[in-house]
Amino acid sequence: MSVLGDKIKNQYINLASSDNEKFYSYLSKISESEAITIYVYYDEGDNNFVNLYSTSLGIEIADFTNSLDRFSEYTSRITENNPVIFISSNENNDLMYYGGYLDTRDFVISNGYVIKECNVYFFLEDVIQPFATDFTLTNIMMGIALFISFILATVMSLFISYRISRPLQKISQQAKILASGNYDFIFDETGYLETVELGKSLNEMRNELAKTSKLQRQLISNISHDLRTPLTLIRSYAEMVRDLSYANDEKRTTHLNIIIDETDRLTNLVNDILTLSKLESGITKMDITYFSLSDLMLQIINRFEILTQRDSYEFITSIDKDVTINADRKKVEVAIYNLIANACNYTGEDKKVYINLSYDDGALVEIKDTGIGISIEDIDNIWNRYYRSSDLHKRAQIGTGLGLSIVKEIFEAHGFSYGVKSNDEHGSNFWFKINM
Ligand code: ADP
Repeated sequence: MSVLGDKIKNQYINLASSDNEKFYSYLSKISESEAITIYVYYDEGDNNFVNLYSTSLGIEIADFTNSLDRFSEYTSRITENNPVIFISSNENNDLMYYGGYLDTRDFVISNGYVIKECNVYFFLEDVIQPFATDFTLTNIMMGIALFISFILATVMSLFISYRISRPLQKISQQAKILASGNYDFIFDETGYLETVELGKSLNEMRNELAKTSKLQRQLISNISHDLRTPLTLIRSYAEMVRDLSYANDEKRTTHLNIIIDETDRLTNLVNDILTLSKLESGITKMDITYFSLSDLMLQIINRFEILTQRDSYEFITSIDKDVTINADRKKVEVAIYNLIANACNYTGEDKKVYINLSYDDGALVEIKDTGIGISIEDIDNIWNRYYRSSDLHKRAQIGTGLGLSIVKEIFEAHGFSYGVKSNDEHGSNFWFKINM
């Protein structure tokens, strides 16, 4: 400090007397590089205070000419809050201190350095120390804050990971149970939003898997049942022909006809299974052509003519002419054929079947019968494979239990709208519409 003080004193002798501005800028530089505040106090003697300069403010802050009282009061006020010391001389040219710490000479010496040159006093205030003290305090506070944040963060992350990982662990255990083919549980839907969502999606998946697995089991049992029945009949009648009726022409023919009928039933069943599995797996490509739906429907109705002659069926038709559509002709044919076959199977005693084709904003095909209809409980299920309504006692003559599933696959592949209107006792109206 004393070396610095001497430097400042020399600069003052060289500069300030001639150029105050240059001297002040020199003081500013020193104050910045040494991290101190320098106060300059001019005393013209006999308590004749001219003004005060501070490098921290960079200005001459007051003019106290001839007013020691005002200077004293001013410095006291400032030093109440700041460790600032102003220096003047008394009549004997000794140093005098004004301000908050005037009595504490030791403090002055340890924190600052006073130089007197002519009538100018410099006070060099070391700002490092208070700053360093503050810094240490700040360090400690920051350390405490860091420590608290660390603890908080740890607690929070433990809490969050517990809330997230627990349901995830549970879900993963349940997924293993699901993988083993057990669907009799519900995935956990607790925890955070994402795990709740995951639980919900997995529950939906579980429901679908349970349904598929149930359908698969039903399908296998239905197929085996439907295969076994004709096979048993074929074997029994074949044995009867071999052991009993081979010599009796009439009986043998009857028995052989049953064998042929059952073989046809088997062939139909196997064909339907193949058609459906091909449609479902998407193996069969769509062969879209532009053709007359009116002509196609008339051709199909013709194929059922045999039922009119043989079994007194009555087909009441209303077919709009020249309705042409873009579709896979063969598949649409299969669908219409299946719907008419069903209508024949399930129509009432009058054996009437109504077949309509009308054209408005699209081609609408309707196939109605006069049978017992389909109950509300069954209506959504009849499109499922092998579904048979519970209140139908009559065994389908032509059907395999797959007809409507095939129809559904065909309509959906084309994007046709379709459905069935039915009331108990009032017959069913199966329809599909090709929008154009
Ligand atoms: P299938 O007729 O060989 O049993 P389908 O898939 O064609 O198989 O039909 C599924 C079920 O829908 C039928 O078993 C029957 O219960 C019901 N169903 C279909 N068509 C009709 C209809 N026209 N009237 C009443 N019930 C019908």
